[in-house]
Amino acid sequence: MKLQKTLCVLIALALMLSGCTRSGSDAGRSVTEEAEYTEDVFAMDTFMSLRAYGPAAEASVREASEELRRLDSLFSVTNQESEVYAANRSAGTPQMVSEDTMAVLEQALSISGQTGGAMDITIYPVLRTWGFTTGSYQVPDAEAISAMLPYVDDSRIVLDKGKGTVQLPEGAEMDLGALAKGYAGDKLADMLQTAGVSSALLNMGGSTIRTLGRKPDGSKWRIAVQDPEDPEGYAGVIELGAGAVNTSGGYERYFEEAGEIYWHILDPDTGYPARSGLASVTVLTDQACLGDGLSTALFVMGLDRAVEFWRARDDFEFVLIDENGDLYVSQGAADAFTPMGRYASAKLTVISRET
Ligand code: ADP
Ligand code: MG
Repeated sequence: MKLQKTLCVLIALALMLSGCTRSGSDAGRSVTEEAEYTEDVFAMDTFMSLRAYGPAAEASVREASEELRRLDSLFSVTNQESEVYAANRSAGTPQMVSEDTMAVLEQALSISGQTGGAMDITIYPVLRTWGFTTGSYQVPDAEAISAMLPYVDDSRIVLDKGKGTVQLPEGAEMDLGALAKGYAGDKLADMLQTAGVSSALLNMGGSTIRTLGRKPDGSKWRIAVQDPEDPEGYAGVIELGAGAVNTSGGYERYFEEAGEIYWHILDPDTGYPARSGLASVTVLTDQACLGDGLSTALFVMGLDRAVEFWRARDDFEFVLIDENGDLYVSQGAADAFTPMGRYASAKLTVISRET
């Protein structure tokens, strides 16, 4: 599974980057302006790739990869030194956390509130019972799941910004897996920008991409959307300037038991894998943290609720693939998205703002 995922990321990278190198001299720019620097990092349980262009690229990417490792060590749910690990064992008492942990928690609670709890970081104990955190998969007893559901409620997390503390109710535990990569992508993009980089592609693990500016030649980035039915294939390509593309799908991590497939995105209302009829959700946003949280939430919501949710706001666009392989693309993403392979002839519905 891991190897398969690695291959996907590498193929996705190859596709995204194809055609983006050119020599500096024929473009009338100096070679140094077009210098490119990439660092591959294993963090947050996945392979990431940080690429920047221009004279500040190397120094700033090195700094960004250090920062990525630092964020990983704060947010990891399994690392015994992490702030999330400590908070999960705090037995109801307030825990001091760093600015980044406070900031990502604020975003998590905000997205949860906006999505009616479709994304809820306190789903963690249920995820663990299913074995999604370790790979020792099992279908839990229905009673075991219902006994945990009262603790799945992130509205009971208390953040005190003044004191810098987080307080989880006793029995509750959290996991930032739904949006930590997005948060890190935004933080790293801000760092690169401050360091003078104006063109960068941050692949935070294939399903979370954050860009800065455009490619050095002024053209848009090309981001592949994975085929949910075939991890080595593509459903299409998104052309994007500065912004973020996040995809969530059941195919990312799942197991099969007695002919049923169970995947890693759970419905916080039931504690069971979210079966909303969607196979994958891709969200286009300015900010990767919001996009990461929303892609998980919309996967839980399903087509109708996702469309209704989108119509009430103006800060994201989407590409949805349902279990039949049909595509639903929001009005604002229609020009950016080009279906590929067998999706080129699939049924595609453009969703407009009007009902
Ligand atoms: P990925 O990290 O695989 O790219 P997502 O961004 O959709 O995909 O995040 C899925 C992860 O979020 C799961 O592995 C799990 O840790 C966590 N998770 C699963 N369901 C939920 C949920 N409803 N709310 C919050 N977190 C969830
Ligand atoms: Mg997500």
